[in-house]
Amino acid sequence: MSSQVVSQTSYEIPKTQRAVTFAETHGPHTIQTDWPVTQPSELKPGEVLVRVVYSGVCHTDLHAWLGDWPLENKLPLVGGHEGSGYVAFIGPPLEGAEPCTLKVGDAVGIKWLADSCLHCEECGKGFESSCGQAKNSGFSVDGSFQQWAVSWGAHLTPIPAGFPLANAAPILCAGVTVYKALKEAAILKGEVVVIPGAGGGLGHLAVQYAKAMGYRVIAIDSGAEKEKLLASYGVTDFIDYQKGDVVEAVQKLTDGAGAHAAVVVASGSQAYEQALQYLRPHGALVCVGMPPNADIRANVFWTVVKSHRIIGSYVGNRQDAIEALELAAAGKVHTTFTIEPLANLPSVFERMHALTLNGRIVLDLQ
Ligand code: NAD
Ligand code: ZN
Repeated sequence: MSSQVVSQTSYEIPKTQRAVTFAETHGPHTIQTDWPVTQPSELKPGEVLVRVVYSGVCHTDLHAWLGDWPLENKLPLVGGHEGSGYVAFIGPPLEGAEPCTLKVGDAVGIKWLADSCLHCEECGKGFESSCGQAKNSGFSVDGSFQQWAVSWGAHLTPIPAGFPLANAAPILCAGVTVYKALKEAAILKGEVVVIPGAGGGLGHLAVQYAKAMGYRVIAIDSGAEKEKLLASYGVTDFIDYQKGDVVEAVQKLTDGAGAHAAVVVASGSQAYEQALQYLRPHGALVCVGMPPNADIRANVFWTVVKSHRIIGSYVGNRQDAIEALELAAAGKVHTTFTIEPLANLPSVFERMHALTLNGRIVLDLQ
């Protein structure tokens, strides 16, 4: 492992770097040691070169590699979209746009949403992830499983001063996504939110944001390790979805009334069907987890009569990312993570697929 990467006022930019790539969907990963680095002279208007220091591994990276979704990604691909690092070089400004406010050496985060037009109706309303011209890190453009990544100045997220980069990385997808999804639930303080998938990368942050926002949390996942992790955040209502009837268990914990919201961050589809059965009237099902080939089957009569709200929530916008990081930097939310070398990515995917990871794995790119 090389020496620690720190904030500097200028960086010596090498011609090649370490990266993990795959050339075909579900094909072998290659641990590259001489992957090309985009040189400052090659940066296009609006682009910024980031020296990535850490990158979280999200289940979305695994879905992308497996080809789970009805969308095609770039190939060969450098995955990764939970990157934290330093601005290394700023490309020329976009025509007609204000110059980039970032400086070389600033700590920044790379999110799933790498860039959007910022002019269309969706961008104007703050739904930047739905922009027709959106670029996605580690999917349509190369992401953070490399030491030097090209990103876009308008969408890089400033990381609060003094907040460790390894802790920040999982906030840049998992954190911002669940924080936004909880806002979308639009419930009141003291009301009950159920979080299926609570022991995973998104889930372990969701329970903490939910508590910080004043909600009562019921966590659903499986196994003693995940139950223990969640108990460490003060979550005592835990349901093991592999043991017994989940719907009955939620009803019991809510005295038969049901939950006000379910924020489903599970990577398995069964969690969606269960949620519609334990929501109380006007309850919100917030869809976040994206299992392959999954449908939500909601009975129209009961959806109307119970006034259920079914909401898709797709990452978060630039402001959501800033707020999610602020809450984490203020100590309201703690990322539970293990740091592993970049070359471990294939093994991380194996463990993620087996659902044995607690919290997040963060890769070290120093
Ligand atoms: P993860 O593998 O870290 O965690 C998933 C968790 O779900 C695991 O702990 C697993 O045990 C649990 N689980 C699986 N089936 C379950 C079930 N039926 N009931 C309860 N728990 C169950 O994955 P992650 O990185 O947290 O991602 C979770 C999902 O969220 C993925 O599908 C990912 O693609 C998606 N995601 C969506 C967005 C978005 O913008 N909507 C953003 C990021 C990730
Ligand atoms: Zn993600």
